[in-house]
Amino acid sequence: MKKKIFILGAGISGLSLAFYLRKRFKDTLEITIFEAQNRVGGWIQTKKINDCLFECGPRSFRVQELPLIKELGLQDSLITANPQAKTKYIAQDGALYKTPDSIASLLTTAIGRKCLKALLSYPFRRKKKNGVDESCQSYFQSHFGKDFTDSLINPLMAGIYAAHPEELSYQASFSRLKRGKGAQIYSFKEGMETLPQALNLLFQENILLQKEVVGIREHAHGIELLCADGVHSGDFLFSTLSMNALGALFTKQDPLFSLLPHVPRASVASVSLGYHEDFLSYKGFGFLVPSTVEKQLLGMLFDSNVFCEQNAAYKTRLSIMLGGTRAPELLMLNEVELIKMALSFCKKYLGQQKEADAVCVSYAKEAISNYPVGHLEKVAALENYLFKEKRRVRLLGAALYGVSVVDCIQQAEKVANNF
Ligand SMILES: Cc1cc2nc3c(=O)[nH]c(=O)nc-3n(C[C@H](O)[C@H](O)[C@H](O)COP(=O)(O)OP(=O)(O)OC[C@H]3O[C@@H](n4cnc5c(N)ncnc54)[C@H](O)[C@@H]3O)c2cc1C
Repeated sequence: MKKKIFILGAGISGLSLAFYLRKRFKDTLEITIFEAQNRVGGWIQTKKINDCLFECGPRSFRVQELPLIKELGLQDSLITANPQAKTKYIAQDGALYKTPDSIASLLTTAIGRKCLKALLSYPFRRKKKNGVDESCQSYFQSHFGKDFTDSLINPLMAGIYAAHPEELSYQASFSRLKRGKGAQIYSFKEGMETLPQALNLLFQENILLQKEVVGIREHAHGIELLCADGVHSGDFLFSTLSMNALGALFTKQDPLFSLLPHVPRASVASVSLGYHEDFLSYKGFGFLVPSTVEKQLLGMLFDSNVFCEQNAAYKTRLSIMLGGTRAPELLMLNEVELIKMALSFCKKYLGQQKEADAVCVSYAKEAISNYPVGHLEKVAALENYLFKEKRRVRLLGAALYGVSVVDCIQQAEKVANNF
């Protein structure tokens, strides 16, 4: 008899897990994916409004090599970021400054000089012993000084985690960012949703949409998922849910409940604007903003510079990222208020306040996992418990193993190979 496998969530983690399980076990497993929404992809969602391409979630992914693209036959749809996207800016004193990208720029740019000073002070600073986790703020401040941390690490963490470096574990959040030499930034001609849609084509028959799981019961011989339409019985469960969502599905008496790490999630509101006019004088990826400079603005992405292939009739496409842990209250604003705020930042930093020809506002509530100090230790204890107690549950996804799309895919492959 075929083993009945349940996967919770049809985001990129759940879909790629299904792919790798099928690749390894062929049709010896009966896979069912439970998805609460009426679509697959989770946070990955591409929209076209007035024929302008907008991303509601991730805009790109950075990797050296991702075999899944080839395995799905998506090579022809893949696009690489424009080389000029290597240039990034940081906002300071109402202006944008290039981040250093060469030895010479360490001397010739204002931010470069800060970096140089931080590097020169490195040998004289007191650092924590290796192996002990600490916050990104504490790590960088002790290695490179407060000025460097506040001016460069703070906006970088805002751009990736929508959070403050104080809130993030160095080991869990920063070491993951290394993607190896030669890593490139990619998307697809028709946007990021191409990837989950390709997986959806393979697993359409295995995915139950609008099927929210509201409870989990585990017995010695199987697992039961409780849904509005009744109980589904199977052999093994993989969850890609957030720790909060998963915790709510187990009883508080279950030892697993108390072992689930606390992983706060940051919320982001993004306002994306498309213009027929070409007014962007900056050539680069976009800019990030230290929390000491702006409380509401995390950064602005120059989408039209990064993936020109997606521009169609729009010469300028921008995404203004608002909120994060520095201003979570912005997620309460309505679309009109958010657009007004986004335009005021366009005026301040780009000198443009004209209404856009196409607009897309997205609310990503409690979307980005922020791993606190000690996260990796808690994950190891949890994994150890699941394995030792022969539980019929395994966990993956952005809640535990890295927030990037690539992290989610690579973890799914690892989990499938260890099953
Ligand atoms: C605004 C934003 C921008 C981002 N930018 C980037 C970027 O540029 N590059 C990058 O690499 N990453 C980026 N990320 C991160 C990345 O997109 C996510 O971490 C990743 O997509 C998470 O995938 P996942 O499958 O683990 O989780 P999710 O996408 O959250 O999928 C989980 C799925 O589970 C479903 N679900 C929840 N509860 C239940 C239940 N009880 N029963 C059934 N189903 C349930 C949900 O509906 C969802 O579809 C960004 C994220 C956001 C929000």
